[in-house]
Amino acid sequence: MITLLSGGTGTPKLIRGMRQVLHDSEIAVVVNCAEDVWVSGNHLSPDIDTVLYLFAGILNTETWWGIRGDSYETNRYLERIGMPESIMIGDRDRGIHIARGTLLREGKTLTEATAAIAASLGVEATVLPMCDTPVASCVATENGPMHFQEYWVTHRGNIEISGIIREYESPPVATGAVIETIQKSDAVIIGPSNPVTSIGPILECEGVREALSEVFVIAVSPFIGSRPISGPAAALMKAWGRSPDSRGTREAYGDIVDLFIQDLNDEIDLPGSLRLNTMMTSQKQSESLAWDLLSIIQGQRSGKNIGRSKR
Ligand code: GDP
Repeated sequence: MITLLSGGTGTPKLIRGMRQVLHDSEIAVVVNCAEDVWVSGNHLSPDIDTVLYLFAGILNTETWWGIRGDSYETNRYLERIGMPESIMIGDRDRGIHIARGTLLREGKTLTEATAAIAASLGVEATVLPMCDTPVASCVATENGPMHFQEYWVTHRGNIEISGIIREYESPPVATGAVIETIQKSDAVIIGPSNPVTSIGPILECEGVREALSEVFVIAVSPFIGSRPISGPAAALMKAWGRSPDSRGTREAYGDIVDLFIQDLNDEIDLPGSLRLNTMMTSQKQSESLAWDLLSIIQGQRSGKNIGRSKR
């Protein structure tokens, strides 16, 4: 089994390719849930939704969020009656948020709610939230902490930020399912997701780094040079006190990574990293990167070590 650590855009593009090479039942995904919010009484888990919809074959892969062909009747009607939502939520997408909210209110954990929704969508992969207690990624602004969703979705990132804050009542602890899945994986791939708001929160869950130190870990950079392929990763990395590039990403992940992958066109020179084409603008490119990574993992398992081994 291969486990990926994922946010809601870059790594899902890689998972799209993995699905062409592996059966879904051989793929596990540990998903960031530090962007979760309750909207209109329902539970929105943006990264979990994207990963579930991808495996269910219903993801809108133009935007990498929401359900393909969804309608927005409820969202528009709420606006008409003076209750606008800060996030565009499709009607079917909302159905999933209603289901999740209901399950959580009934006392189910996020892991249990995710499993129930995955089963109802016919998802055969293992999709696991990183933890079962609420945690929120916030940015520090001159007016105080602001939830990442508000910073990125409402303000489109057009606000000065000076730090990253994780808000929680109790420090997040990785679920037993996450730890067991990592332990029994042939390898773990830290996908090309945002190091600050997607991968950082997963690595910060108690128990994750220890579990990763025992398996072969490949990390794929989401940066080419000093620019991410998309999204606010550069501003967030600076606010996090790291250089907004592959070097800052590798430093943030630290010594749990055995092999770091940079894009062929990344001008930053990181000794020891492997160069691959990491741009996944098409299904074929996703598949090609998946093949490359799986060949490396296969080689590692048959003793042809590539990169540094922790063990
Ligand atoms: P979010 O949850 O929507 O923020 O998405 P992620 O954290 O999963 O992914 C965002 C990151 O994916 C950004 O930093 C992008 O640079 C990166 N990304 C998006 N597409 C690609 C791609 O094709 N290749 C690589 N290497 N990175 C990508």
